[in-house]
Formats: sequence, C-alpha cells, structure tokens
Amino acid sequence: MAQQFDLVVIGAGSGGLAAVQRAASYGARCVVIEHGPMGGTCVNVGCVPKKVMWFGASVAHVLEHDAHDYGFDVTVNRFDWPTLKRARDSYVNGINGRYDQALRKAGVEVVHGNARIVGANEVAVGERRLTGDRILIACGGHPTVPDLPGAELGITSDGFFELEDRPRRAVVVGSGYIAVELVGMLSALGSEMTLLVRKDHLLRPFDPMVRDALMEQVRADGIEVLTRTQVREVSRGKDGRLTVHCDTDQDLTDVDALIWAVGRDPNTAALGLDTAGVDTDDAGFIPVDPYQETNVEGISAIGDVTGRFPLTPVAVAAGRRWADRVYGNMPGRKLDYHTIATVVFSHPPVGTVGLTEPEAHEQYGDDVKVYQAAFNPMYYAFSEHPRRTALKLVTAGNDERVVGCHVIGQGADEMLQGFAVAIRMGATKQDFDDTIAIHPTSAEELVTLR
Ligand code: FAD
Ligand code: NDP
Repeated sequence: MAQQFDLVVIGAGSGGLAAVQRAASYGARCVVIEHGPMGGTCVNVGCVPKKVMWFGASVAHVLEHDAHDYGFDVTVNRFDWPTLKRARDSYVNGINGRYDQALRKAGVEVVHGNARIVGANEVAVGERRLTGDRILIACGGHPTVPDLPGAELGITSDGFFELEDRPRRAVVVGSGYIAVELVGMLSALGSEMTLLVRKDHLLRPFDPMVRDALMEQVRADGIEVLTRTQVREVSRGKDGRLTVHCDTDQDLTDVDALIWAVGRDPNTAALGLDTAGVDTDDAGFIPVDPYQETNVEGISAIGDVTGRFPLTPVAVAAGRRWADRVYGNMPGRKLDYHTIATVVFSHPPVGTVGLTEPEAHEQYGDDVKVYQAAFNPMYYAFSEHPRRTALKLVTAGNDERVVGCHVIGQGADEMLQGFAVAIRMGATKQDFDDTIAIHPTSAEELVTLR
C-alpha cells in the first residue's frame, strides 16, 4: 500500500533540501527521495569541494610568487594532492552527516533510492509507493559528455573530484564556469594545462571587459588556450596516456586527464515524466511558471532541472519561497530571477551582477553610460607577477541607475554581494558616488569611478 504524504520531494540537493525543510517547518508531512549522497551536486561534486580546491590553488599562487615579493624566502618541497583530497572528502562527509541530522530533527522522512513518477501524485522507489498531495521535482542535472569517438576516455567535473593524484598534463574542453575554474586550479597546483575553446572567448555571455581580461590572465599563467578548436576524436596509447585529436588537425599527446566541461543535462530522462504528462523542453529541462509550477497541477519543479540560473542560492531561494507560498500562507511569494549576482572562481575571480554592456544597449538603446577602470591592485604594487583588476558599472537612463556591475580581480568574489543589494534596490551612479570609500581597497574604486 502506498504511504501518503503532503509533499514528496525528488532529490536531496540544494533546492530539494531547502524546500523540504521549510515545508516541514510549517507542519507539512514530508518525504525526500535521494539516490546519491545528501546535499546533491553543490556539496558533493560542486561548489563545496571546488572552493576547497580554489583555496588550495590560491595558496599555491601565494607560495610561488607573492610570498617572495613580500620578502619571504620560501622553499616548497612538494604539494601532496592526496592530503588535500583526504581533507576535502572528510569535510564533505561532515556536511553529508549534518544534513541527515537536520532532516531527522525536522521530522522529514528520507528514502534512499531511485525515484520514478508513476502517476500525477504517486512516486515509486523500488517496490515502495509514495503518494503526495504535491510532488516537487528537484533532481538537478549531470555533466554533458559529447557524442564523439573515444569521448568516454575523458572525465567530467564529477571525475575531477575523484582524481587520486594530480595529472601531470591535462586538457579541459569548454569555456564556461567549470572549464575556467578547473583549468585555473589545476594549473596553479602544477599541472601542465591546455584549454580547448570552440569559439573565441571564455565565459562568452559575460561582459566583454571581463572575458578579455580573463583570457589575458589565463594565458599569462602559462595555460595554453586553443580557440576555435573542437575535439574530433580521443584515443588511448599503450602507455595509458590519451591523444586528443582536434578538428584543426592538431593532436594533443601525452595527456593524463581529459576533462569535459561543456555544460550539464537535466536528470529527467528516466524520471517517468511522461506518465504524469509533465512537459519538458527539447533539452529535457522542465519549464515552470513564475511560481515554479509545471503544466501538471500538483507537480512543481525547482533548481537546475528547470534550466534557469543553475546556481545553488537560486535553487535554495526558489525552494524556500515555494514552500512559504504553498505551506506558509504567503500567497504570491516567488523568486525574482532578475539581478542575480554570480561569481566565477577563476584566478583572479570574476564577480558580476545585472546587465552586461551589450545587454544594456539592447534593452536601453543609446540611453546607457558606462564607467570603468583597470588597475594594478595594491597587493601587487611591487610584484613581478601582478594580476590586474578591471571593473565596470553599466548605468541606464537620465538618473544613471546602475543596471550592471562587473569585476575581475582579487577580492571580486567577496566584493559583489553588497553591491548586488544596492543594485537590486535601484541605486544610481550618484548613490555610488555619495558613498564614502573604504580605503585602501579595490572595492573603493566602484564608488569613485569618473
Ligand atoms: P542538485 O544539487 O544536483 O540535486 C539534485 C539531487 O537529486 C541529487 O542529489 C541527485 O542525486 C538527486 N536525484 C536525481 N535524480 C534522482 C532520482 N530519480 N531519484 C532520487 N534522487 C535523484 N553553484 C554556485 O552557486 N556556486 C558555485 O560555486 C558552484 N560551483 C559548482 C561547481 C561545479 C563543478 C558544479 C557541477 C556546479 C556548481 N554550482 C555552483 C552549481 C550548483 O551545484 C547547482 O546549481 C545546485 O547544486 C543545483 O541544486 P539542485 O537542487 O537543483 O540540484
Ligand atoms: P556553462 O553553461 O557555464 O558553459 C558551458 C560552455 O561550454 C557553453 O557555454 C559553450 O560555450 C561550451 N560548449 C558547449 N558545448 C561544447 C562543445 N561540444 N565543445 C566545446 N565547448 C562547448 O556550463 P558549465 O558546465 O561550465 O557549468 C554549468 C553551470 O553550473 C553553469 O552555467 C553555472 O550556472 C553552474 N556553475 C556555477 C559555478 C559558480 O557559481 N562559480 C561554478 C560551476 C558551475 P561556447 O558556446 O562559448 O563555446
């Protein structure tokens, strides 16, 4: 016999966990189904282990260059990848455990297994049947592997986190968030890196200032970037190493690891969506209305599976707002998908919120004014290996409302959150100018631009 709940959530990742805990706090009887470790992509193979590696890479930069610039005579004997991996895995395991405890405390039932929708309000997990007045799909996505000969010889970001040792030579394919982050980390930790980009730019949808500055820095760090290059085939030699054959007829040989970072597909193929009549788009993502509702009453979707802003805080915010509206008596509550700030953990990091300069022109025509600066931050004032900072404010209208803010440079990751609040509140260039600077910082440049 089926077990009856108010809410059945598929996926205990960022969005599912946020939604189910909030729903339970309003007294809803909830179950969450998960076939992997607690916390989903972000905790296990995303933001969390990635940021640990980014910190590690940042330490490497300090040891290699900056410490010397500041007068330290440092000798680094070696970097031990397994030590870092062990510490990282143990940190992640701790988070998995804390999620388990939090769910138990909130009175949420956890079912481990593969969920399949078998009716408009029924989900099967093996032999078990769970029915819910509502079903929330929060099943996320997985890395895309292109369909070409030998593609299976490569790994994805998931495989990157399983690497037991540092690859001596690695090739990353892609130009988005993951490609840029992985190539930077591996390079800083000592791998010889090539990045294969199929068009001309890294982070193509970002502001041109950011993507140009990033390309310059990535190359200055000794990373080989081959643009307008696609992989044709991958083969493995007798020594176990890979050769990556490119459509430019260039062969990249002696490759220890090939990493695909060419986007992510939704986990919807085997979910049974057609049984319940839930629509998907051509790529398998689930379209939702502004209230996260699918085309089928009683079935909602949040997070990466909806294909909109695949970021952890977006999945979390969408899940909490959905639960507030449905169980917390807050009619009309929903996530505003405008002005979402985001950071790319490259070296140096990129922080961005709002419209790029080309997007602003598309939306406001000529009624756009841009303020920008590029400089050597004080930290690198006497460095032989400076990393420049570039920043830009995009304003629109007579009152010069700030509609975009873009920064690449040391500290950009921590800089943008506060500016995102101001921009969301409708701050103008005058508001920025009237704000007293914090000195000496790089952030102060954003309130002194002329
Ligand atoms: P997920 O977290 O993917 O959770 C979905 C869960 O559903 C998974 O646990 C999965 O096992 C489970 N599941 C799927 N199908 C089923 C099924 N049929 N039955 C049972 N369970 C199922 N975002 C940021 O904001 N900042 C970052 O720094 C950042 N870094 C990232 C780095 C990498 C390498 C990657 C890959 C992603 C990164 N992201 C980052 C994106 C972020 O991880 C995702 O946006 C976020 O995890 C999406 O949450 P979600 O709940 O939609 O899906
Ligand atoms: P992205 O969407 O960021 O980038 C993928 C890019 O790869 C595409 O834009 C495309 O760029 C290129 N590409 C696509 N197919 C191919 C191909 N066959 N060969 C070569 N290049 C190809 O995807 P990611 O996988 O990097 O990341 C997925 C999402 O996860 C991100 O969008 C982001 O939302 C989230 N994420 C967030 C992070 C953060 O917050 N710091 C970190 C990591 C991920 P082009 O068209 O220019 O060639």
